[in-house]
Amino acid sequence: MAVQQNKKSASKKRMRRSHHHVAVPSVIYCQCGEPALPHRACAKCGTYKGLEIAPAND
Ligand SMILES: [Zn+2]
Repeated sequence: MAVQQNKKSASKKRMRRSHHHVAVPSVIYCQCGEPALPHRACAKCGTYKGLEIAPAND
């Protein structure tokens, strides 16, 4: 196993971990008015780009 030669400083550790956040998902609004994920069928009405492609969820 590779072993590091020198201890990473607290600053370098924090620089590395600055990328460890969870991405906030982008939100679009369906024609039914519900917030939905882009490039996915609406969870409430089951439409995508105005076409019903999945059964409605309620
Ligand atoms: Zn919808």
